[in-house]
Amino acid sequence: MRIVLISTPLGFLGSGKGGGVELTLNSLVSGLLSLGHSVDVIAPRNSKLHKSNEKAKVHFVEGKDQISWQHQNYNSPVTIPDNSLLAGMLEKAIDIAKQSDVLLNMSYDWLPIWMTLNVEIPIAHIISMGSESSVIRNLISKVYAKHPNNFAFHSKIQADDYPFIKKPIIIGNGFKLNNYTFQESVKGPLGWVGRVAPEKGLEDAVYVANELGEQLKVWGVKEDETYASKIEKSFPSGTIDWMGFLSTNELQKELGKCRVLLNTPKWNEAYGNVVVEALACGVPVIAYKRGGPSEIIQHGKTGYLAEPDDKKNMLSYVEIIEKIKRKKCREWVEKNASTDIFANKVVNWLNKVMQDYK
Ligand code: UDP
Repeated sequence: MRIVLISTPLGFLGSGKGGGVELTLNSLVSGLLSLGHSVDVIAPRNSKLHKSNEKAKVHFVEGKDQISWQHQNYNSPVTIPDNSLLAGMLEKAIDIAKQSDVLLNMSYDWLPIWMTLNVEIPIAHIISMGSESSVIRNLISKVYAKHPNNFAFHSKIQADDYPFIKKPIIIGNGFKLNNYTFQESVKGPLGWVGRVAPEKGLEDAVYVANELGEQLKVWGVKEDETYASKIEKSFPSGTIDWMGFLSTNELQKELGKCRVLLNTPKWNEAYGNVVVEALACGVPVIAYKRGGPSEIIQHGKTGYLAEPDDKKNMLSYVEIIEKIKRKKCREWVEKNASTDIFANKVVNWLNKVMQDYK
């Protein structure tokens, strides 16, 4: 198959602004290439794919970013800026679509979904978030009525946010196992990884660290500086050890030393890449029982699921974390979330989509 991937219109690949989509896109490219497919990636200027993805052709587009939907009101209208990056990426995709089989959209936005109704080319969408916008939700509902196979989701619980989707196509996610080294460090620090933004609930993990009189290591882009400094000020100084945003290779080396990853989303996390990355390094995860992490973590085996927003409950699980066997964490990723498993699910799905257009 010749597949054209459309990246997120939020920051270039490698900036961290696109969140989990950046890693997901790279994993998918790896998996598709190893299955022998040809891949074109349309991405913002300055984007870099992982080294092993050199065989994919990247088409760079310049323009102004979209506003992330999770930071707008649910009823906000669609905004398309002048010199829109998203519109530019779509123009490029349409341009090269004639030589390809399918367009695969990874941006969570209105325009590419709307185009599905208005062009002859198959456009498939990996929906990367729960329902964060009424206008997008309503549009998905409308397009779904005509093209029920064109949408895929990362987890069942994410798809539940779109109740009109009767039999959701669930593709999970994929991780390149040899990018993550298993580590045995049962006595390491507490870790937290993610975009530093309100929907990620960092304050709850800092609370747990503070109760234990420990530091919390935090990796990720400070997307919301005001929120970050507000949390910092509400705990004794030094409770947060800001580690910055690292490349996957650097991140996994450090993350693997932790004894546990605390994962505290306040929203319906579509999947939760950082959960699986920790598991791949052998690090058990304690997360709230909501969103994607609640489908990934096996309670008592690869970590624990605490009652949503119950910080004390989370703390109680940190105290027994040594009961989790780190090898089991890595094993889960090998069996359930490799790039090959992921790419195969995506290819099966895309075949179904293409069939509908014949
Ligand atoms: N990440 C990274 N370096 C860091 C911190 C985070 O590359 O120092 C990446 C991480 O690998 C993951 C992404 O940021 O792929 C966060 O994705 P997740 O699905 O957890 O949440 P999202 O940001 O998409 O809501």
